[in-house]
Amino acid sequence: MKYLLILLVSLFSFSTIQSQTQPWQGKFEPIDNMIPPPNTYRTASGAPGKAYWQQRADYKIKATLDEKNNVLSGEETITYYNNSPDDLNYIWIQLEQNVNKKGNEDFGDVFGGVSDSISTRQMQFLTRAVDFPAGYTIKYIKDASEKDLKTYVNNTMMKVMLNQPLKSGSSVSFSLAWSYPITDRSMFLLSREGYEYFPEDDNTVYLLGHWFPRMAVYNDTEGWQNKQFNRLGEFALEFGDYEVEITVPEDHIVASTGKLQNSESVLTKTQRQRLLEAEKSFDKPVMIITPEEATQNEKTKASKLKTWRFHAKNVRDFAFASSRKFIWDAQAHQFSDHVTMAMSYYPKEGLPVWSDESTKAIVAALEVYSEATFEYPYPVAISVNTSNIGIEFPMISFNGGRPKNGKMSDRAKAGMIGTIIHEVGHNWFPMIVSSDERKWMWMDEGLNTYLHQRTVAEKYPEFHSTTPKDIVPFMSGDQNILRPIMTTSDNELLTQFGANFYQKPTVGLQMLRESIIGPELFDQAFKEYASRWKYKHPNPADLFRTLEDATATDLDWFFRGWFFTTDKVDMELSNVKWFKVYEDDLNIEDKHKKTTFKIEGESTETIATDFSGGPEVITMTPTSENSYGGFLSRLDEPEVRKQLSGKNIYELTIKNIGGLVMPVTIEWIYTDNTKEIDKLPAEVWRLNEYEISKTFVKTKVVKQINLDPNFEFADTDTKNNSFPKVETPSDFDAFKKTKKD
Ligand SMILES: [Zn+2]
Repeated sequence: MKYLLILLVSLFSFSTIQSQTQPWQGKFEPIDNMIPPPNTYRTASGAPGKAYWQQRADYKIKATLDEKNNVLSGEETITYYNNSPDDLNYIWIQLEQNVNKKGNEDFGDVFGGVSDSISTRQMQFLTRAVDFPAGYTIKYIKDASEKDLKTYVNNTMMKVMLNQPLKSGSSVSFSLAWSYPITDRSMFLLSREGYEYFPEDDNTVYLLGHWFPRMAVYNDTEGWQNKQFNRLGEFALEFGDYEVEITVPEDHIVASTGKLQNSESVLTKTQRQRLLEAEKSFDKPVMIITPEEATQNEKTKASKLKTWRFHAKNVRDFAFASSRKFIWDAQAHQFSDHVTMAMSYYPKEGLPVWSDESTKAIVAALEVYSEATFEYPYPVAISVNTSNIGIEFPMISFNGGRPKNGKMSDRAKAGMIGTIIHEVGHNWFPMIVSSDERKWMWMDEGLNTYLHQRTVAEKYPEFHSTTPKDIVPFMSGDQNILRPIMTTSDNELLTQFGANFYQKPTVGLQMLRESIIGPELFDQAFKEYASRWKYKHPNPADLFRTLEDATATDLDWFFRGWFFTTDKVDMELSNVKWFKVYEDDLNIEDKHKKTTFKIEGESTETIATDFSGGPEVITMTPTSENSYGGFLSRLDEPEVRKQLSGKNIYELTIKNIGGLVMPVTIEWIYTDNTKEIDKLPAEVWRLNEYEISKTFVKTKVVKQINLDPNFEFADTDTKNNSFPKVETPSDFDAFKKTKKD
């Protein structure tokens, strides 16, 4: 039967191959000229190469929080290891707090214009009418022998001239002291760290991220980081060990990256006992600070200070939160060789959902992500409540979502739980698989959202989770606005980055998993990528190459279309022909005798729009001697005809309207209402990128044919997916109907 099909296909398709009317675009050509060539640092297989290197920075920091003036100040010693093959005359340090300095015109002006009605807060974003003295004051920067180092500040980056070149393979230590006014989160667009003030009880929650001057990345791809911090493109950071001392008002509770080193001097005996209990509680959280105790704490205002000490190993950043408002719960989670404490910190304004859901959501993320990549390696995984938005740091994240008057809609609750899963999930991408967020936002957001959505689907099936259908509105959008996924972070519109950098890569990975490679092999390849680049700095090409290398699948067509263009999937089932063959004479003695077949129905030149005209006429002739070429054996032609007898043959013509080449899923609905699915690989578009014909033999009679019936490939226009055409009500009809209902 297979032979016959090939015969038929070549017969019917020959004419369409010849008649391609638009230029060949090379959609299946390699993407080698679109990604950097492999080298000794990054191999052609997508793994780190033999000569792969990355820098390292260890930090010792003493920071003090001045609650009265909302100022954070610190002294730090950085030990920087130059593992590169290059000698360095200068180094760059990131000063992200400078982003809010007046005169730093950031991307906030994407909303540039003033409309008739504008909120005061929006006007503040635009005009900075209230002048806030944001940014660092650097008190000193000295080398190990106390000699001052010359610096040049360029906006959010500071160049430090070394007193002698830092040779390849050596390290340098230097110290600096700094301070900055902590920003009010409500005052700046897209603020994710800073402080939040609670007027009712005159207290503050401090969420401190990118708070200390940090080493910029120097690597084999960029040299020194040269993209400024504009808030949307986040961070590129080096790994290292941290010893951090945080001095805060005595009655504050600090939640932080790292393992607490001095619990006996900062926690009460009761709190320590409860923590010990929590370390053995694997099924539910234990309250370390109860709501009643937190409310009591709100009323004091200690004048004394207390110092919390934390150590963190092999992290690329360090963040903390501090407040006297915190309620604190903790639960243990067992990994193969260690226990991680899942912990949540929230003000009473987060009750009751935060005590019910936050730690549970942390554990859900720990389970699914660990299974899909590698085990969570750190001692703590913390979720801290904020008013809105979420942001991630190693071991700790600040997550938005609070009830109003104790109540939260299901939708808001799902959003809050989703945020916690997402931000905890960022521990894998980019905190450990440490891509450059400032350059490629999609690399961490896309891969993280893919696993975040999988966690929601597995652990919260009652919530909506992303499927390919969800990307249809975005991909059908205005081509003058759309950018490809392979667009650098800050060049994307604020209105588009969610769909382009989070959802579209997620859907792409879902398609690869579910419909192109298959879950088993894809999951192994995804794991391979994660473990290859654990604690390293991957680039897009390293992901593309690994997914091909680990699956033996040429995916260049997919990466080219999905990541480098704004094309969409829109396939049109433009024509269907139905044939039926009846045999006349099975016992043909003389193979040269001309054989004819009776065919039901009538040949017609008009294109059928449904099956009502019945099957069409085709003529099959005995194969000529020439067609067998040099072969001496002959097909059992009567047997072929016998096989075809009474069968329905359907020739489908499918057009690629949207531009993206994709596999084709065909749903057949038979007159007895049973269904069948046929799948064609994307490679069917190799010889003609615009139009293909395919022929199928079916025993049953078909009454309806649909393309992409389950939205596996996010077909953007389903009105042209069916034969006969399915009447879809116009928008106006649908509107009228809802009105009536
Ligand atoms: Zn994210």
